[in-house]
Amino acid sequence: MTDTELITAATTASLFAHCPYSKFRVGAAVLANSRVFCGCNVENSSLGLTICAERVAIFAAVAAGCKSLSTIAISCPDAPATTDISQFMPCGACRQVMTEFGRDDTRILVQGIAEFRLGDLLKIPFRLDTATRNSPVSTRDSDS
Ligand SMILES: [Zn+2]
Repeated sequence: MTDTELITAATTASLFAHCPYSKFRVGAAVLANSRVFCGCNVENSSLGLTICAERVAIFAAVAAGCKSLSTIAISCPDAPATTDISQFMPCGACRQVMTEFGRDDTRILVQGIAEFRLGDLLKIPFRLDTATRNSPVSTRDSDS
């Protein structure tokens, strides 16, 4: 799978976007465990339930058992060519999700903009240290 093919897959996925509110189609294609998974943004009238194309694609990969992201391609065909690059970039929530399954050197290909490394887009992601966490303890124990 070439970078061009992955970007084409992202652009194709954007055609399925459900974006009646923003009218801003986004498509994503992720290469995970040598397989390609696509996603598009899916908006909801409650807005808070909207999900980005990147997370749809990543969650599809995870649901298929492919949790090692090597490359993510993003296509925003409705972004005006004259806008600054921020309209093309993945949001903070997506960057955090990417760090769950990617590495610092996971490539982010933003169509028409540039290639980035995940470690550069989110330098200090949140990570829960599960190794040092104890079993849940009821706070009510201290009250009795
Ligand atoms: Zn996002």
